[in-house]
Parts: sequence; structure tokens; C-alpha cells
Amino acid sequence: MATDAIAQTPPFILSRTNRVLVVEDEELIRDMVASALRDEGYEVTTAADGATALRLLQLNMAATTDCDYDLVILDLMLPQFNGLDLCRLLRQRQNPVPILMLSAKASEADRVTGLELGADDYLTKPFSLRELVARCRAMARRMQFGQVPSQERLQYEELVLYPQECRVTVRGEEANLSPKEFRLLELFMRHPRRVWSREQLLEKIWGIDFIGDSKTVDVHIRWLREKVEVDPSKPVYIVTIRGFGYRLG
Ligand code: CA
Repeated sequence: MATDAIAQTPPFILSRTNRVLVVEDEELIRDMVASALRDEGYEVTTAADGATALRLLQLNMAATTDCDYDLVILDLMLPQFNGLDLCRLLRQRQNPVPILMLSAKASEADRVTGLELGADDYLTKPFSLRELVARCRAMARRMQFGQVPSQERLQYEELVLYPQECRVTVRGEEANLSPKEFRLLELFMRHPRRVWSREQLLEKIWGIDFIGDSKTVDVHIRWLREKVEVDPSKPVYIVTIRGFGYRLG
């Protein structure tokens, strides 16, 4: 049955996000949302109150962080257990499932609270079904490109470093860094504006047992600058602090 739902799914857009849980106590809205999403190829489950949602999301089970859904549409005001509490619980369990929050409240404070608690998007009632579907598609697309919130990303101006992927982009383009250059840059980016002496860098990057001299650091800094600076002879990212060492920015 699940296979059929995937087969009906249009390619590229919904191929990964196809199971949606709609939590909404107003029957008319719940049915309309569910049917609009089914028309789009989603496999939809509905819950009319917070307690049912809690059970479906397995949040009543202490041990599990699993989630059977790829997207949760969550009404804020619900009987028994409200949307904000559900959202908070999901995130406390480290569950990264995308959450689109629905609310009749248009106030800035509620929207901010929802987003702070870990909702990914927020839609105020009344909304058009077309807009809801568009938001769901956008969330699916973000998931597909792997931009999950847990992805660590360090940014300094136009330098972006992805520690888990050992990848760096400079002005939007992939930079091809050696492992030493990568570790140097990561150290700088984790401590912006901190000055590092050559000896400290040797110890951090090459290790305490490294036998060699601090010129090694200068050579690697030069190579790193050639890859990240617009003009390596006038560095603006990895700058020299005369008499002390180097720092970022
Ligand atoms: Ca409600």
C-alpha cells in the first residue's frame, strides 16, 4: 500500500516527503487540508486532538525518537495537548521532522514562539489551500537538499564551512582544501578574531609530537590564503598579527 502511494507521487518534488500527519481539531479544516494533500500525492493521517497526535507521534513512549511521518501539520490550539507542547516535545526528543504550524492567532509573539520551539514554518488562518500545498512543497524541497536543521554550518562573511561534510565554499563556490588547510580554517572559524601563535597552531593541527619548525605553519597559511582570499597578497580573512601570529578577520 505504501509502495502504491510512492508510485503515484510526482517525481522530484515529493519523492521523499510523502507521509503527512495533519493535527487539527476543526473537522472542516482537517478534511479540507487532508484532501488537498491527498490530491498532491501525500499519504495523509489525521488526528483531531493532542492526545491522539501524541500517540501517533509515539511521544508517549519515552525511549523512541522515531517518527513515522515526513511532515507534520500542527494546529496550535488543540484539546488536551496543544500544538506548542507537541512541537516542544518533538524537538526535545531530537526529532527533526519538519513542522508546519497552523494558527488562528496572527500575533507576532505566537509566530515567534512557534518558530523558537522548533516549527519550520507558520501559517495563519484563514489560509488558502494552494498556499498550504506550496509551503509543504517548499519544505519537502528543503529536506531533499539535505538542509536538515541539525546540519552544522560555520559561516564567516563569504566563507562557509560544513564540519561533518569536510567541505568549504568560498563566495558560493566549492574550495578544494587539503585536510590540514581544512582543520586550520575550521579552528579559525570556531574562534573568530582569536589570535593564534604559530606554536599554538602547530600543537592544535599538527599535534604536540610534531618535529619541525613554525615555518610549516606559514607555508600552510599561504596555501590556505590562495584558496580563500580574493587577493592572497592582501588577505582579509586570515590576517597576520605581527609579532603574535594569525587570526580570522
Ligand atoms: Ca484549533
